[in-house]
Amino acid sequence: MSAAMQNYIDEAEKALLHTYNRYQVVLERGEGVYLYDMDGKKYLDFVSGIAVFALGYHHQEYNDALKEQIDKLIHTSNYYYNLPAIEAAKKLQKISGMDRVFFTNSGAEAVEGAIKTARKYAWLKDGCTDHEIIAMDHSFHGRTMGALSVTGNPHYREAFEPGIGNIRFARLNDFESVEAQVTDKTCGILFETVQGEGGIYPATEEFMRKVRKLCDERDILMILDEIQCGMGRTGTMYAWQRYGMKPDVMTTAKALGCGVPVGAFLMTEKVGAHSLAAGDHGTTYGGNPLACAAICKVIDLFERQKVLDNVGTVGDYLGGRLEEMVQEFDCVQERRGLGMMQGLVFDRAVGDVIVKAMDKGLILINAGTNIIRFVPPLVITKEHVDDMMVILRESIGEVYG
Ligand SMILES: *Cc1c(COP(=O)(O)O)cnc(C)c1O
Repeated sequence: MSAAMQNYIDEAEKALLHTYNRYQVVLERGEGVYLYDMDGKKYLDFVSGIAVFALGYHHQEYNDALKEQIDKLIHTSNYYYNLPAIEAAKKLQKISGMDRVFFTNSGAEAVEGAIKTARKYAWLKDGCTDHEIIAMDHSFHGRTMGALSVTGNPHYREAFEPGIGNIRFARLNDFESVEAQVTDKTCGILFETVQGEGGIYPATEEFMRKVRKLCDERDILMILDEIQCGMGRTGTMYAWQRYGMKPDVMTTAKALGCGVPVGAFLMTEKVGAHSLAAGDHGTTYGGNPLACAAICKVIDLFERQKVLDNVGTVGDYLGGRLEEMVQEFDCVQERRGLGMMQGLVFDRAVGDVIVKAMDKGLILINAGTNIIRFVPPLVITKEHVDDMMVILRESIGEVYG
């Protein structure tokens, strides 16, 4: 590492609040599926800023759309209409099949909105203020107090208790554990269609179907967090679309703006008509013209570049190649995931493998201590997967061989 880069890192550590143990690199620019640090070293990127930069870096048409919108109008507040927000909402309706959209600035805020929607929906029915939400162990929904309260990782919550209260936890893919938590006060059942941070666990079809049926029978809102697994990552625009059913409320963010901070929560017409109304919820920035211009261009480019087709073919290929690692290394126990959201489960910590790969010019990330997560730009090719595999194999071999 150059002295200049080390100097920047030292300065960063004096100025930024130390809430992350960062990798020792200062990234400067990106080109396609590659990132470059300030010393000019090139990295193949299999993280895409945590499932965000789906279309790759320095996408000229995307960048131009943002520049054009900057020169027109960046922000108005939500007291007025703006064209990009109307277009973005219509496009989101189309790709999701949901009816009503509320734009946020982040994933966590989308989860907050979904929680408020469920509480208001139930409150309108009985006027009570003791409704409960069922969330899942090992889930991750964000770091704000509401989103944290439904995050099934006690370690993240501990120092910040009490949370928002009336949250019960069950286990993903264990329907009986969900049933056991249902009471007359349950207003929502919330989970990620594919758990991300918790270790890349896809919901099973049976679990989805049974939760849907339970929610229908008891008028409970089924809320799916698609912040990480949505926007094409698993091969359908939203991961739940492969299951032949539909949630009542869903969240989306991460790749939605491909780097411009934006999220949304969406709901059916029925829920929209019986939950949040004028004055119930708001945001200064959410859905501003710049963020929504990004959404519009992202959705256009997904269609035009046939991103879902690529996730289908190259995602399958990625899964197959990762499977080789399970055969090859005793310390690799399992591969899990869908499409371009894959996890390689080790019997030990993966931190050293990730650092070694970075040395060799490959950017990877963990999910928990013992899982390497693969969430590359959705435009990678089989050749990129092959290049990744060479470095991954070497790195595992050198660290644990
Ligand atoms: C990243 C993530 C969030 C939080 O999104 P932020 O934009 O970081 O607030 C919520 N849910 C899931 C499933 C996520 O992966």
